[in-house]
Amino acid sequence: MPLLVNLHHVEANNLRLVGELAVKELELEQVDELIHAGQPLQYDLETQKLADAILVQGRLQITLDCECVRCLKSFKYNLELNHWARHLPLKGEDKVLVASDCVDLTPYVREDILLELPRHPLCKPECSGLLRKATNQKKKNGGRATEEVSSAWAELNKLKL
Ligand SMILES: [Zn+2]
Repeated sequence: MPLLVNLHHVEANNLRLVGELAVKELELEQVDELIHAGQPLQYDLETQKLADAILVQGRLQITLDCECVRCLKSFKYNLELNHWARHLPLKGEDKVLVASDCVDLTPYVREDILLELPRHPLCKPECSGLLRKATNQKKKNGGRATEEVSSAWAELNKLKL
């Protein structure tokens, strides 16, 4: 189910939307080699009808399975937007698409989640990861570990968000 706001429902009263948005709806599967979304996004939103727009504000949360760019360890990353807000015009050039009296919030949620994804996922901020191991292993096997590190960085460079 996409995240829909029915304009008729929001017309008279502010509408609270609480629920889960499936990963499939968010199309987050392919965004990054190091970031995987396995669990649905949780939302708790208040929608309000303004004269020519709807205002959506509230909380978004998703737990991501990330791989550390430095040590390649898997870890959970909690992405939380506690004061998420979008102003969605119903008129004018930037007006949102309305289908069967509903506005789909999914693309806006997706857009802002993408912006908040960690650029360089790290298992912990001070992770020294393979950089340190690489120096040790370099002596043993002629720098294989170093290559792994550079490929992780190469993956990162591909990300032109
Ligand atoms: Zn790490």
